[in-house]
Amino acid sequence: MLALRLFGKEDLKLEKVGEPTLEEPGAILRVRATSICATDIKAYTTGARTKIPITLGHEFSGEIVDASREYADYIGKRVVVNPNIFCGKCEYCLSGEHVLCPNRYAIGIDVDGSFAEYLKIPDQAFRVGGVQEIPGNLSYEEASLAEPLSACYRGQRKLGIGLGDTVAIIGAGPIGIMHLKLAKAAGASKVIISEVDERRARVAEELGVDHVVNPMKEDLEKRVMELTGGRGVDAVIVAVGVAQAQKDALRIVAKGGGINFFAGLPAGKEEVPINTNLIHYKQITVLGTSMQTPFEFKRTLEILAQGVVDLKPLITHRYALTDGITAFQTSMKAEGLKVIINP
Ligand SMILES: [Zn+2]
Ligand SMILES: [Zn+2]
Repeated sequence: MLALRLFGKEDLKLEKVGEPTLEEPGAILRVRATSICATDIKAYTTGARTKIPITLGHEFSGEIVDASREYADYIGKRVVVNPNIFCGKCEYCLSGEHVLCPNRYAIGIDVDGSFAEYLKIPDQAFRVGGVQEIPGNLSYEEASLAEPLSACYRGQRKLGIGLGDTVAIIGAGPIGIMHLKLAKAAGASKVIISEVDERRARVAEELGVDHVVNPMKEDLEKRVMELTGGRGVDAVIVAVGVAQAQKDALRIVAKGGGINFFAGLPAGKEEVPINTNLIHYKQITVLGTSMQTPFEFKRTLEILAQGVVDLKPLITHRYALTDGITAFQTSMKAEGLKVIINP
């Protein structure tokens, strides 16, 4: 079968590899849709992966075509799989905070992923509820976006965004736009996006943001204060891995508000001088989230199936796996939002 494999820094090749086989309990997925993520791009530009070569891809859906006896019922079913595989036994998993599981590994990050025709679904994915049937009305492509959307859903639940809140999102990439859609669906009264790229700013406007601010051209703090009656926003989501954005968040959040550092900073750039008095005197909550629990993943599928948010406008490019390299280049140019490969 064909697979798009990373051999090191900026070394991606479309290769013929053997199809996965079932020696132990689990199932074989025929991948139908898989989306390119910033994490894949980061792996490409840094070559930093524990396993090399590796087939990238962790946002995917498909059809179960073979399974061991335990999962025979799944054969022929359309499914979407949480790429994060949790142990289900540690104290974090037992408490429902699977994302903190020290035994976690991820498909497409630690083991071969979905930029391939077939993919092995391990037994453990089934055991922790990571394999979900795709609701009838949902396409494979939309279902493949359940992974990033569920991470955003977790991020907003932890912030407690609700009816009437004002929200600022820093960064209008695919993740920033997913946050916009979720915040609007949660009842946010006003969503402000900070974005330096004019093209992305326009897309955010088309997709329903209330205000866009370009922090290179305008004073972000001044603008946010104008838009919120001098109060600041109830919640800030930092959806770019930029230190300045984290510092900006502390200035634009309202007293008693919350901030989610949703994007990690690049290796070696994690130390950021911040005015901690802003946290103290404004009595702000600063938190971080990444990934999603099996519960959040399942909930997100319902959000998509019930049309609470519509991610179809985010799918801007589609490619066959044979054009996988071109798909990657398109995603890196950040011209559109989500680039989907249909193997
Ligand atoms: Zn991702
Ligand atoms: Zn665990």
